[in-house]
Amino acid sequence: MRILGIESSCDETGVALVDASGSGVPRLLGHALHSQIEMHQAYGGVVPELASRDHIRRVLPLTDAVLAQAGLGLDAIDAIACTRGPGLAGALLVGTGVAHALGVALGRPVHGVHHLEGHLLSPFLSADPPSFPFVALLVSGGHTQLMRVDGVGRYALLGETIDDAAGEAFDKSAKLLGLGYPGGPALSRLAEHGDPAAYKFPRPLLHSGDLDFSFAGLKTAVLTQVKRLARAAPEGPATSHLADPLTPQEKADVAAGAQAAIVDVLVKKSLAALQATGLRRLVVAGGVGANARLREQLDAQAARQGLRVHYPELALCTDNGAMIALAAGLRAQAGLLDGAEATGRFDVAPRWPLALVE
Ligand code: ATP
Ligand code: MG
Ligand code: FE
Repeated sequence: MRILGIESSCDETGVALVDASGSGVPRLLGHALHSQIEMHQAYGGVVPELASRDHIRRVLPLTDAVLAQAGLGLDAIDAIACTRGPGLAGALLVGTGVAHALGVALGRPVHGVHHLEGHLLSPFLSADPPSFPFVALLVSGGHTQLMRVDGVGRYALLGETIDDAAGEAFDKSAKLLGLGYPGGPALSRLAEHGDPAAYKFPRPLLHSGDLDFSFAGLKTAVLTQVKRLARAAPEGPATSHLADPLTPQEKADVAAGAQAAIVDVLVKKSLAALQATGLRRLVVAGGVGANARLREQLDAQAARQGLRVHYPELALCTDNGAMIALAAGLRAQAGLLDGAEATGRFDVAPRWPLALVE
């Protein structure tokens, strides 16, 4: 069974084709992606209307590219999957609209996939796929959650952020350092040259005893630190950007300190979730899962404590179509694609908690 997957929840248009025949992990037959990051950079964030329009431009050419990679035609598609939510409503409507149109034209079923289920299952496409059960640390631009995962469709929320997501904390800190949007990767590169202990940053809820996170305070701490350094700079107050008067070393130190604070909390809470559940396997997914310091620290802890940690391929940490096609493939293999959703039309679900997915 070949499934075409379409992702359009935010600022990446992704299309992919998987072969989910048999019981092995679905095999990726083709995969194409267009990121809108450059288009949104001028605005310092995603402009929803521009995102929707660009998805419209990209989705069919990307579909053609995927089929060409696979050496197959449209008639080889047995089912279509698209991201149903959560995400930007207008952006989601493009993917679901195209998926439904293809479904009608080809006479094939259309399945709505939860975006975070896609992220969560994406490590199954890596060279070292996990097995169930495991604890998942979902760290993306919009979410930070710890889930207990007992199988496909069996997700229980253990804890989550009460305010900003980890990716948001990276992006907002990066913005305060003048690193553009989305600044997570840039901040992480800059942090390589910095001293994480040069300045003190808060690690909220580190000892709260639960598995929740809070990152909103970090942004304020970074702002305070940048202002303090800017005032002390010989060039005087900020020019075009608040962080302009900082020396490259000061910026790197702030970046390293902010990153260390975020990573410390993510690592500590992930280990606490493993302990609380008695599980020995951790799966990291979402854009922040690409972060080198997070991977280093988790791997070091895993080696020390005899735990296993699984990550998606670096290219599949942020949004892509492969994870949507894969999630649909795994759901099909688990017998979870029948039901109303497989035959009827469905609307987008811009707000949709993963724990409600069955
Ligand atoms: P969601 O999946 O919650 O709807 P999203 O799709 O926007 O949100 P992702 O695409 O999974 O999120 O991840 C994007 C986020 O990952 C951004 O905040 C980005 O800065 C962050 N990110 C990507 N690479 C890195 C990195 N190397 N270090 C830190 N953060 C990173
Ligand atoms: Mg994105
Ligand atoms: Fe995402």
